[in-house]
Amino acid sequence: MKPPQQSELDAYVARFVRQERFAPLGSIGGARLRSSRALICGCGALGTMIAERLARAGVGTLRIVDRDWVEVSNLPRQTLFTEQDAVLGRPKAIAAADALRAIDSRLLIEPFVADLTCDNIGELADGCDVLLDGTDNFETRFLLNDYSLSKNIPWVHGGCLGSSGQVMTIVPGVTACFRCLVRDLPPRDSMETCDSAGVLGPAIGVIACLQAAEAIKILSGNIEMVSQDLIVVDTWNTACRLISTASLKATSRNCPACQQRQFPFLEGALRTETVVLCGKNAVQVRSASAISSGDFSALAGRLQHSGKVTNNGFFLRLILPKYILTVFRDGRAVVEGTTDPLEARNLLSKTLGG
Ligand SMILES: [Zn+2]
Repeated sequence: MKPPQQSELDAYVARFVRQERFAPLGSIGGARLRSSRALICGCGALGTMIAERLARAGVGTLRIVDRDWVEVSNLPRQTLFTEQDAVLGRPKAIAAADALRAIDSRLLIEPFVADLTCDNIGELADGCDVLLDGTDNFETRFLLNDYSLSKNIPWVHGGCLGSSGQVMTIVPGVTACFRCLVRDLPPRDSMETCDSAGVLGPAIGVIACLQAAEAIKILSGNIEMVSQDLIVVDTWNTACRLISTASLKATSRNCPACQQRQFPFLEGALRTETVVLCGKNAVQVRSASAISSGDFSALAGRLQHSGKVTNNGFFLRLILPKYILTVFRDGRAVVEGTTDPLEARNLLSKTLGG
């Protein structure tokens, strides 16, 4: 590709005139954004909105990692996708990359259809200036936290459920870290998911835009402006709460990650393992977090809207049109109806969380 003429560059930079008129950003901040690189981990509801905001702000390289495909039930929240993407069941990373290139053809968009794990995070995050959380599970967040602290790269956590969400920016050596907030992986069935509790599109928009604003501060050379608070927003009850991360750091004395510098998620000591069960059209998942807290009656209650549930005390079974999911007391789950480990992990995340 031949290098662009100066006049072409000037015309391109002119599109950011209003953004750069905002004095704290300015033309220097704008130029920094154009030469920066962000990793967006998960390209669902939060990830698509974050990616669009960063692309429109002119962040030069966007690397997008997602393991899922587009479905019609994503369209109320996931802003980069169309009905056609859902009909074709396109991988989210690829469909998002096409949409982002249509917004700004000069950006370098690097899509990866993959599950972010300790095996590939080094390669996927290589050279990135910030990591953004668009995931729906704690295991990946703990992995991002380990990687961020070990490589001294800031990351921006975001999460949403129902009408509420939260944002926390982690700057290694400065702020509290994610494990100061959540010490250990919670059991997968101890939390509501977007499948069980639902989620409102505008709540996603608020949280993703706060995450994008934090990333823009970091990438434009204004890292001292990042929020020092955990920001919690409820769009239904119209409330916002700020919790000082300094107080989190003070109360989580001797944090295993940022104080003791133990990184078991990055080292693979704590990870979800999948095994394809030969001849059974099934995948067994052994999770880093307990899949069930052992309270099968509570789990059965939560899953009753998802499909037919049976519980014999030894294992709990959820029967769906395409799959049968069996949860065992020893922490395993078996997904029948696929031999694809990614598909099995997706189903578990959507139905059980974690
Ligand atoms: Zn910590």
